[in-house]
Amino acid sequence: MRFDVFTLLPEVFLPYLASSILKRARERGLIQVNAHNIREYTHDKHHVTDDTPYGGGGGMVMKPEPVFEAVESVMGQNPVQTTGQPVPIILLTPQGRVFTQRVAEELSQHERIALICGRYEGVDERIREHLVTDEISIGDYVLTGGELPALILVDAVSRLIPGVLGDPTGADDDSHSMGLLEYPHYTKPAEFRGWTVPEVLQSGNHAKIDQWRREQSLLRTFNKRPDMLEKAILDEKDSKFLNGLKKEER
Ligand code: SAM
Repeated sequence: MRFDVFTLLPEVFLPYLASSILKRARERGLIQVNAHNIREYTHDKHHVTDDTPYGGGGGMVMKPEPVFEAVESVMGQNPVQTTGQPVPIILLTPQGRVFTQRVAEELSQHERIALICGRYEGVDERIREHLVTDEISIGDYVLTGGELPALILVDAVSRLIPGVLGDPTGADDDSHSMGLLEYPHYTKPAEFRGWTVPEVLQSGNHAKIDQWRREQSLLRTFNKRPDMLEKAILDEKDSKFLNGLKKEER
């Protein structure tokens, strides 16, 4: 999968992408992340990429010309994937649809994605209106730029691409993948400062371990994120377990 990131700070991407799982994924050709410097698409002596806002007020606004030129030179006009689907041109903005595991799954189906990182007060509205095909926010708070949001998106989407995680089923049980929070994890030693690992996990009985994990997953979601249970796919056993928890609560 190829990510083309358009930014005024291309240098912030490499340190993160040169470590651990994403480094290996890049080396194995499973993902390609190209950070393009919007400043290189300016034509004036000072390489200006921002200007004062029409109507007044504080802050600067990213100019449309270099952003359009950067995206169109790299992606071409109306870029399409081999599937015939258009390449999503995504603006990172606190005004976009909120990024969730479902959105990451949806984006992981694409061969190529373009990401535009804003700075200052944001980007000229014509970029949003005439260049961008999707707008994504990583949450209801405001950062200084779109670079961290873009890295978050690249990270969450990349780990869903087959082969990126060492364990092919590694992402299946993750929190949010199945609409529940994940069960707790333990590693060695079996006893640490008098705190012991639950016996069932040491029993070697996989049916019991699976049942314990499912129940822990339900319990955690019930306690920490009850809102998620409304949408989770639950079987009869799950519902019975949750009804028991509700009764205990009363
Ligand atoms: N004035 C803008 C507003 O109120 O909507 C916020 C601009 S913010 C200071 C600068 C840039 O950071 C944005 O253009 C966007 O690219 C990025 N950004 C900030 N918060 C973000 C978030 N929660 N999700 C995605 N991008 C964000």
